[in-house]
Amino acid sequence: MVSVREPDPRQALSTVERLPVDLPSPSPACLAVIEALIGDDDRGHESAGRANNVDDIVRRIGAEPMLAAELLRLANAANEPGQGETTTIKRAVFVLGIRTVRRVALQFAVRAAVADGRLPNELLGQFWRHALLRAACGELIASDVGIDADEAFLRGLLQDIGLLVLLHQQPEHATLWPLLAPLGPAERLAVEFEVFGETHVDIFHRLARAWNLPSVLTRPILDHHAAAADDVHHTVMGRVALAADAVVAHLAHAEGGRGTVDVRAALVGAGVPVNAIDERLGSIVRRAAQAADELGLSFEPAPSYEQVLRAALRLMLDVRVREQHSVKHLQRLLDEREQITEDLRRGQHDLSRMAYVDALTGLGNRRSFDETMTQLVEQARAGGLPLSVLLIDLDHFKAVNDRYGHQGGDAVLKEVARTLTKQTRATDHRARIGGEELAVLLLGATAPVAERIAEKIRVAVESLRVAYNGEEICVTLSVGGRTLTPTAVDVDTATTVHHLIQAADAALYVAKKCGRNRVTWADVEEI
Ligand code: GH3
Ligand code: MG
Ligand code: MG
Repeated sequence: MVSVREPDPRQALSTVERLPVDLPSPSPACLAVIEALIGDDDRGHESAGRANNVDDIVRRIGAEPMLAAELLRLANAANEPGQGETTTIKRAVFVLGIRTVRRVALQFAVRAAVADGRLPNELLGQFWRHALLRAACGELIASDVGIDADEAFLRGLLQDIGLLVLLHQQPEHATLWPLLAPLGPAERLAVEFEVFGETHVDIFHRLARAWNLPSVLTRPILDHHAAAADDVHHTVMGRVALAADAVVAHLAHAEGGRGTVDVRAALVGAGVPVNAIDERLGSIVRRAAQAADELGLSFEPAPSYEQVLRAALRLMLDVRVREQHSVKHLQRLLDEREQITEDLRRGQHDLSRMAYVDALTGLGNRRSFDETMTQLVEQARAGGLPLSVLLIDLDHFKAVNDRYGHQGGDAVLKEVARTLTKQTRATDHRARIGGEELAVLLLGATAPVAERIAEKIRVAVESLRVAYNGEEICVTLSVGGRTLTPTAVDVDTATTVHHLIQAADAALYVAKKCGRNRVTWADVEEI
């Protein structure tokens, strides 16, 4: 998706000339509508719905003819067939509802503010697509985490407006947009600062003041990139914003892979129950398309793989049914259909197994690791047992690939996985959680016991000689470990999982820093 010919944003620093800041602004009439729709207090949208406010809102909309026309158009599109045409603003507000009117007005204001042709339409289309996906994600997971869905939607919609304004002010950097979109939050800020001289959070801050947006809307947007990632994890809205960011970055990053892992971790981190994640992820694109409809935007969701497969199968069967008229042919087709259904059913079975097993090594995959981790933390708590996690990363594995080729690397991965299985108990959980990253979960193992097992694994792998193409490949690995000891402290499972992995990962990092081929243990944590 990202063209390799585009400049690296990190190299753009020296060529950037900072432009004088002239914030784009919608018409005062449009700002007046927004003010009336949101109210100036921190009670936010609650206050906007007050009945005595509606006439005021209608009057203000009347002063902004383009917005009025847009609302009438949307209200008529939303009309049930047979219902009379909507011809007054008041009726349009009634048909659409205050929430939709507020969304349309805010989105209209931003669109109007940058609609001077400085930014290419394609970029604007992509921007709103991302904003809608982020909004839909926030809205969908709002009830999982106990926040207001409409607020979560609006925040998602507005969150990246700072970036749009930065691009609008320095349109010569518009080509960087596809590079910025898939970056993680921290990386994004760093690159923005280098390229634009300020970040989307800084400029949004100024914009919010200039547009007089209420703090109920702007605070979480300003907070979502709080300098220390840990701070972000302490506010629910901040975590939702991070999760929505991860989802959008993932969808922007069509290759998937690493993105998928981050999305799951971010959703769990935000408080979405593990067993609800697939459903939420499956609904986001659909909900974003629906929201686009409500806002009068165009949205072209890419169909899922499963949709494409189903459509192809249906088409194949329909075409053949139409072509073949005789009973005999029909019977054969029915048999075939049965066979296909059966194959699909079996495929389904394999798919559900595949969904949890890593094809190369036969170990659990990332999904199985995530789900097992959550289950084991709960079991550890319920049974008062320690739970140890080992994060394992092969050392200088790139060099193994470089020397013996990818297939040589794969042979090593398989052998290391076999060693892992030999050195642990059948009841322990082993997974391949990334390319050359493995993990072991040991329920009931205290830190000294788990550390001994990690050391056994390390020694066994160190002495491996993997036969490949008449040569013997040697490899070592580094391990970061962490043990949870249940106490009465009341922390939710997702947070505990997050901290556990973070700590083991930090220990792994130390093992790498200290020279690799070693086990490093993080302090025991109480849960
Ligand atoms: P370090 O000791 O710091 O971990 O160095 P490293 O080379 O192992 O780390 P790095 O992350 O730079 O490289 C990981 C390599 O793992 C790069 C990639 O080619 C390789 N790799 C990832 N997945 C697979 C796989 O499925 N098969 C093979 N053969 N190689 C893989
Ligand atoms: Mg690695
Ligand atoms: Mg490695």
